[in-house]
Amino acid sequence: MSKKTSEKFNELVASFASLPTIGKKTAIRLAYFVSKNHLLGTKLAQDIENAIRFIKPCSKCGALSENECCEICSDEDRQRAVLCVVESARDVLILEESGSFNGLYFVLDELSDEKLTKLRVMIAEFGVKELIFAFTHSVNADAMSFFVEDKLKDMNLEFSKIAQGIPSGVHLENVDLISLHKAMVFRTKLK
Ligand SMILES: [Zn+2]
Repeated sequence: MSKKTSEKFNELVASFASLPTIGKKTAIRLAYFVSKNHLLGTKLAQDIENAIRFIKPCSKCGALSENECCEICSDEDRQRAVLCVVESARDVLILEESGSFNGLYFVLDELSDEKLTKLRVMIAEFGVKELIFAFTHSVNADAMSFFVEDKLKDMNLEFSKIAQGIPSGVHLENVDLISLHKAMVFRTKLK
């Protein structure tokens, strides 16, 4: 960027540009907008600071939460016999947005003994009967489901995965809500 532009402005542009899906042009537009709109800019800065300070993973399921236990885990109206295993906390937001699921979630993040222990504790605590794998379809995801299934085979669970309507390798985020809803409703049993 031109040396004539303010250094602070350039830093703001660089920060915006480091966000996912934000290109240089959009970054300049956003930086200009918040520089001109002080109230909005200040609110944005405060919202970001609050999110960083107060949002942490739920101690049970790993979804984003302001409390030790998230709203989903503590909601007694949710269907607690069904638990959906997802790859990241972001997937919980996407599935909640789709409105197609009313059970519990578990964020796997990475396969570790600690994670599997947490999952077992959660299954036992909530009396979970069915586990649904909602991974992005890929060979790796299938291997991951088989591995988890094998590790939990003593827990007397039914296993299923979201239907194949979702194209291979396409992340849940990029699937339209109707397809996602269908994939959840027509989930297939794993045998
Ligand atoms: Zn939770």
